[in-house]
Amino acid sequence: MNILLTGGAGYIGSHTAVVLAQAGHHVVLLDNLCNSQASVVTRIGRITGQAHPLEVCDVRETARVQHILRQYNIQAVVHFAGLKAVGESVQQPLAYFNANVSGAISLLEAMQAEGVRKLVFSSSATVYGQPQYLPLDEDHPTGAINPYGRTKLHIEEMLQDLAASDATWRIAILRYFNPVGAHESGLIGEDPSGTPNNLMPYIARVAAGKLPYLNVWGDDYATPDGTGVRDYIHVMDLAEGHRAALDYLNHSTLPCEVFNLGTGKGYSVLDMIQAFELATGKRIPFQVGPRRSGDVAACYADNQKAAMKLAWHAQHQLGQMCQSTWQFESGYL
Ligand code: NAD
Ligand code: UDP
Repeated sequence: MNILLTGGAGYIGSHTAVVLAQAGHHVVLLDNLCNSQASVVTRIGRITGQAHPLEVCDVRETARVQHILRQYNIQAVVHFAGLKAVGESVQQPLAYFNANVSGAISLLEAMQAEGVRKLVFSSSATVYGQPQYLPLDEDHPTGAINPYGRTKLHIEEMLQDLAASDATWRIAILRYFNPVGAHESGLIGEDPSGTPNNLMPYIARVAAGKLPYLNVWGDDYATPDGTGVRDYIHVMDLAEGHRAALDYLNHSTLPCEVFNLGTGKGYSVLDMIQAFELATGKRIPFQVGPRRSGDVAACYADNQKAAMKLAWHAQHQLGQMCQSTWQFESGYL
């Protein structure tokens, strides 16, 4: 298929581009480069041995997106483009609603106008809000607790309404748990600008000596060691999940479906420190601080639906997530 990846130069988009190209698809990347660099596309090409077009474009430029869909005869879209920093979304909610919700509306209008009806959308486990039970299945009630999460929920609702209005749509909403790690080549990975907010990139910067120690946000949660528990998933497994979802949409009879993409296993912050030290031989000094506001104690997926319907199973272990993170980070030393 000819597949457009909005936000394709970003962290998850670049890894998915590799997987889709290696599966024989033609990928076109669309990105406004607000959180990525054009050089990523050359690196993707070095891995796949092919050149992939990059259209530097904002997804809110509906007419241009429409033109790109037509120009490349696009048959399916994976929509990664958007803003994703929770803290920033609290400070700048309008920017988040504009980029994420208006961005999705613009893309969907362009797709509708061009008759492109297959879409995979990047959602997040954050839409589950405070877990009422674990593991989280797709029927768990939703309820976002910050503006970023609310943008994802709004888009999900919009997609359900769109699918209800026109049953020719084939939409897969993927709720990612915690993507970490990098491609085994070390050529692409997660490279947040400024001080990272997320655990794994922060640990990597401590290992590289760029930050003195890790702050562990709280050790008094009702978890085995008191620190927060999350479902970390290797970004290459996540990328495979997109390939599986796109294959599924080719024969699915339902216009819109939601899938969790997680490993189903929860690891604490202390587990992650230990796993990183073991995998890399680096020491990660840490200090326990207060809880981070808005954090939940534990969050991990029930991934049975993706296993059953998409025939998708996460393959990478925690050690590989840590090793590949370090390989990418240390390439920048
Ligand atoms: P990222 O920031 O690395 O990638 C997003 C890409 O979209 C960037 O290259 C950015 O330049 C581009 N972009 C942003 N706004 C755009 C716009 N208006 N028009 C065109 N391009 C635009 O983020 P990521 O981690 O790869 O996340 C991809 C998607 O997955 C996002 O929608 C994010 O909300 C979602 N998600 C990410 C995580 C995570 O932990 N990384 C978890 C759950 C969901
Ligand atoms: N965390 C931490 N120190 C950090 C960053 C994160 O202790 O510098 C903890 C955080 O409290 C949570 C876990 O690590 O329990 C994962 O946090 P992250 O921000 O990576 O993911 P999210 O909370 O969005 O699931």
